[in-house]
Amino acid sequence: MNIHEYQAKAVLKEFGAPVAEGVAIFSADEAEAAAKSLPGPLWVVKSQIHAGGRGKGKFKELGPDAKGGVRLAFSLDEVKSHAAEMLGNTLVTAQTGDGGKVVNRLYIEDGADIERELYLSILVDRTVGRPAFVVSTEGGMDIEAVAHDTPEKIINLAIDPNTGVTEADAAKLCDALDLSGAAREDGMKLFPILYTAFVEKDMALLEVNPLIVMKDGHLRVLDAKVSFDGNALFRHDDIMALRDETEEDAKEIEASKYDLAYVALDGDIGCMVNGAGLAMATMDIIKLYGAEPANFLDVGGGATKEKVTAAFKIITSDPNVKGILVNIFGGIMRCDIIAEGVLAAVTEVGLQVPLVVRLEGTNVELGKKIISDSGMNVIAADDLDDAAQKIVKAVKG
Ligand code: GDP
Ligand code: MG
Repeated sequence: MNIHEYQAKAVLKEFGAPVAEGVAIFSADEAEAAAKSLPGPLWVVKSQIHAGGRGKGKFKELGPDAKGGVRLAFSLDEVKSHAAEMLGNTLVTAQTGDGGKVVNRLYIEDGADIERELYLSILVDRTVGRPAFVVSTEGGMDIEAVAHDTPEKIINLAIDPNTGVTEADAAKLCDALDLSGAAREDGMKLFPILYTAFVEKDMALLEVNPLIVMKDGHLRVLDAKVSFDGNALFRHDDIMALRDETEEDAKEIEASKYDLAYVALDGDIGCMVNGAGLAMATMDIIKLYGAEPANFLDVGGGATKEKVTAAFKIITSDPNVKGILVNIFGGIMRCDIIAEGVLAAVTEVGLQVPLVVRLEGTNVELGKKIISDSGMNVIAADDLDDAAQKIVKAVKG
């Protein structure tokens, strides 16, 4: 689960990280009061969407010459005019996709005088099985280009979970970021703080880009992007309360109600599969035959007919879906349950697109019989390869 920048900063502040003062607003009339409550003379008006690259982003409605989604303001009037221009409009960034995201919240922040922009993130490095810092002196808005063109400028440091961030670790990070004086003292405190926040809140990613050295020599967390491990959310009610469903895909929200492992994608072939590995393989083979999956979906082993019905309805609710592939290898999952779920969903919502079904495993004959007796317009397939070719052909002609 992702949260907004201003929420992430509040979480990090609880742990003692240095962040600027700021106020989140939902309408333009709140802008002036928000700005007045901050010291000035520099304010930053920041779009709050669950995507990065806002500074370089463009508002759809404002044309190519308008300013981006993060703007400096040097007067109260400027804060007001930026807020009025940004709220309600659609920000397109390198991370939003072409559709962009509507800006419903702004964060008005006390502006900082920046000396240097650094990059810092913490994530779980699966190759070493530990949380790891990733840092670079080349922070700011072009970190992707740095990673691509000069990967040697990006430094990794894995942390032993038994010790946490040791003095030696913190010193290494300070060296990697070329910190001295007050910034170094701040860093020695900040790195353990960020690590503790990461671990205690079960974060999957904590990205501070940029971490800045200010003109006064101190460090500040200037941007914060945090996502949490969904499997651990049950033990963080405070984090759950930060969820902003307007930022999430409606189909994914619906799927989560049924405890379905569903991820919306951009393609046009809807997939209903059991088992995450088989779901991945199904997506791969669809791509192999030249098409794109519209979703990842693992209906799981113990799915009920209701769950399968819900899953099928979610797939068909996606207007991009031009065909559906049901690929079930029934080990724990029974093929007849899948067949009944598909049939129930088709009876309820109809079937507007070609449907290829490949069933194998437990109760396969019964499953096939339910489908053939139903009179549904189904293309039967023998195996994964056959199924993928048939659905791609049905969609692409
Ligand atoms: P992003 O574009 O979504 O990553 O948003 P950021 O919060 O990282 O802001 C983008 C850029 O705006 C930063 O890299 C800074 O260069 C600039 N910026 C943000 N806040 C401030 C500030 O307080 N003072 C100054 N001078 N620049 C800022
Ligand atoms: Mg940033």
